Amino acid sequence: MEYVSTRNKDIRVRSGKAILDGQASGGGLYVPADLEAIKADWRGIIKLDFRGMAKAIWNIFFDDYGEEAIDRLVEASYKDKFSAQDITPLVKAGDAYVLELWHGPTSAFKDVALSALPNLMSAARGMNGFTDDIMILTATSGDTGSAAIQGFRDVPGTGIIVFYPHGGVSDTQRLQMVTPDSANVTACAIRGNFDDAQTGVKKLFREIPRPVEGVALSSANSINIGRLVPQIVYYFSAYAQLVKSGAITEGDKIDFVVPTGNFGDIMAGWYAFKMGLPVSRLVCASNKNDVLTEFLNTGHYDRKREFYKTTSPSMDILVSSNLERLLWYICGPEHTLSYMKQLEETGEYQITDDELFEMQKVFTGVFASDEDGAAAIKGVFESDGYLMDTHTSIAWACMEKYRSGDSPEGTVSFGTDAAATVVLSTASPYKFSAAVLEALGEELTGSDEENMKKVRGITGAEVPSGLAGIFAKPVIHKDVIDISAMKSYVIEKCTKQG
Ligand SMILES: *Cc1c(COP(=O)(O)O)cnc(C)c1O
Repeated sequence: MEYVSTRNKDIRVRSGKAILDGQASGGGLYVPADLEAIKADWRGIIKLDFRGMAKAIWNIFFDDYGEEAIDRLVEASYKDKFSAQDITPLVKAGDAYVLELWHGPTSAFKDVALSALPNLMSAARGMNGFTDDIMILTATSGDTGSAAIQGFRDVPGTGIIVFYPHGGVSDTQRLQMVTPDSANVTACAIRGNFDDAQTGVKKLFREIPRPVEGVALSSANSINIGRLVPQIVYYFSAYAQLVKSGAITEGDKIDFVVPTGNFGDIMAGWYAFKMGLPVSRLVCASNKNDVLTEFLNTGHYDRKREFYKTTSPSMDILVSSNLERLLWYICGPEHTLSYMKQLEETGEYQITDDELFEMQKVFTGVFASDEDGAAAIKGVFESDGYLMDTHTSIAWACMEKYRSGDSPEGTVSFGTDAAATVVLSTASPYKFSAAVLEALGEELTGSDEENMKKVRGITGAEVPSGLAGIFAKPVIHKDVIDISAMKSYVIEKCTKQG
């Protein structure tokens, strides 16, 4: 399959190269050039188990790796990493289904993709005559860093350095980053905030793309198609589980409600839909940072708005990078280029009515506040005994608004003919214990560890082992540096790696 840059039709590559590059030169994102080529035998795919589905889907999108390599890579990616047998189990709660994407090593959904990407990158090196080792640089506000560390640890030919703001992450998040003991992993606090870390990392990519002989810098962010494609798998898995349990009949359409930040997760859902999976609607659930809700209801994207820090921090985003992929398919390359230029220059753009109409045929945009989310946590726990985290609960609250037809003014309603609704659950409630306890109306204890124990006392469900263990583990990564020292720090670490 051929991938093309959203900003330059002359940049065409196969998947291995797209995965190594991450982003196309000139700032475009790689997309499958031909949607006909992703059409799949979905009925055949849903008969398989999770790994089988992953192999079938990766073979379509990553056909340049070859079937044997894909077999090996899928096994390596999901071996011993997930506590659930079928990786992403589906659970019934009330009159909806919750797809739990957080049974991986860091208890959040980014594990599903970040278990796969490092293996795909490592294998792509050999295919592309690329002999350098890869050093991943990441700036994190908390969650991505630990998932990336777990993904890249001990993967041959790769290393990872994560920079996080000193004093700017929760105890749980910090311990998840500073306790992993692998030779190719480094976590380092910087004296500054997340933006400082992010800006510092971007500068290093420009200044020292190859810090030392034999080592090239790369990134693991969510615009890499090596992260996007592995996420398509669980949409099929959800459907398969609904059929298997008798909740739906094969061929019925279903709705997905997706807690959205950078639009990666829901974009994977759209690809699943385009592959042929029977989907009625994709509900794009946002928190108070409702830039996508406005966009999907009016066609106006406007980043010039206040940025809110919410209790669902992984969804606090004003520029959803992966949306560019959808624009490319719906609005075409020329309009996409122009919209992205307008976004950079003026902070906003407006798509045409026809383009908006096309998007609204499958997407619905809804947002919910922190209060709506907290009420959902409490309500669903009291009525069904099911405890959600603060991101999942935003999706749940959005589902309720969507079902009640209580959508923002100007919404075009297409209704739904879905036989079931699946809410994607992106984090374990234990990961956000403090906010979850507050939503339940419980007193907070003094520490994350105690808060987790208190949540356990309420639900009786085991704390995921990856979280329970961190408080007793020795701290391996103790460095704290100034922003100005990031460059020499990276060079030193790459020297050891190379
Ligand atoms: C990253 C993240 C999201 C948002 O996913 P996108 O792919 O960025 O839309 C939602 N919930 C959690 C817990 C996350 O970590």
